[in-house]
Amino acid sequence: MSKSVCILGATGSIGENTLAVLKELGSRFRVVSLAAHKNTGRLLESARAFGAARICLADCPAAEAIDRQSLGGIELGCGQQSLVELAADPEVDIVVNAMVGSAGLAPSVAALKAGKRLALANKESLVMAGAHLMQLAGLKPGAEIVPVDSEHSALFQLIDLNDSRGALEKIIITASGGPFRGSDRDRLEKVTFAESLNHPTWSMGPKITIDSASLANKGLEVIEAHFLFALGYDNIEVLVHPQSIVHGMAVFHDGAVLAHMGVPDMRIPIQYALTYPERLQNSISSPDLTAVGELAFEPVDENNFPCLALAYEAGRKGGVATAVFNAANEAAVELFSRGSIAFTRIPDIIENTLAEVRGGGEPSLEEIFEADNWAREFAMRLIA
Ligand code: NAD
Ligand code: MG
Repeated sequence: MSKSVCILGATGSIGENTLAVLKELGSRFRVVSLAAHKNTGRLLESARAFGAARICLADCPAAEAIDRQSLGGIELGCGQQSLVELAADPEVDIVVNAMVGSAGLAPSVAALKAGKRLALANKESLVMAGAHLMQLAGLKPGAEIVPVDSEHSALFQLIDLNDSRGALEKIIITASGGPFRGSDRDRLEKVTFAESLNHPTWSMGPKITIDSASLANKGLEVIEAHFLFALGYDNIEVLVHPQSIVHGMAVFHDGAVLAHMGVPDMRIPIQYALTYPERLQNSISSPDLTAVGELAFEPVDENNFPCLALAYEAGRKGGVATAVFNAANEAAVELFSRGSIAFTRIPDIIENTLAEVRGGGEPSLEEIFEADNWAREFAMRLIA
């Protein structure tokens, strides 16, 4: 029987790649619903192409501007509540959360509460409320999180395959180093938004591309891994690997290291999140290692890229601190994209916002959303 899929963030980089994967997989999967922020034209186009029954736009004015005649029977919803309803729809088996930012948390919670497989690209959900999501994933039959983030998909495959958790010493997450690898503070002060969007190995949406340039993305990923794999922060390491061929490594206590390799193409982890535990054939080639030539690894330059250390600090603080890290970073990226701050102010803003929170405890979802709001406003006021 075919599995039915809901894609939240269907018009973005991960969303479009998910549709490409589903097209190639054919009748094993069925697209039931698609959602986006406000790209009405593209959302409708994909809904028609894939025969989706329902669509949702987070932005209600964009939804209201749609000519009802043009829907041809497709149900249209709008706003956050409607997104949550799509995620919990009884007809859906798999929810692909490919939204960007903290808006992804509520639908992630709804999908797990409704017993869905959550194919999770929206790492912000886990960073904000990892303890809640991991608990929900074990609660209802069918509820599970399969990561889409390439490094976490790699580790999910490595750790799952070996079934030897007791023997796992640590994991290594790789980072390309982004467009500014090797740059010093003087250079980083001056980099523009456009330059930051020029990622050397991955083609992604704007927010995660900026996060990759600042290494905040790797920070988010360390926190994501902490929750997904129940590992302490001392057991999660990051190495810069400019070729982006090795995505993750599992280090065992007998000295053995398993590495996961693949070309930098998000369709690989997306497909795995859809088909797990099966591995289906597709048209993607494995890396041509002689053409790649060398696989290099180097330590992270923590002096010039402080966002990673700040993420570890937030993770170790615990409680709402990781949500605050995420929100302060989202606000800082927004300010940088508007040209209001220099690239190097991104870590400053995170650091100053994080300094205000004590962390610890087991915050409720409500407290997490409050902390998210507070941090965003606080971070914005820092530059006012
Ligand atoms: P993107 O900007 O290309 O797309 C984001 C999508 O989310 C769009 O469809 C947009 O309409 C939708 N969206 C934005 N705000 C929304 C809101 N408030 N409500 C509902 N929908 C909203 O981003 P992306 O690069 O596809 O990344 C999506 C997520 O996947 C992010 O969390 C990112 O960190 C993660 N991720 C992306 C990649 C990648 O290769 N692009 C890799 C790993 C993880
Ligand atoms: Mg990643």
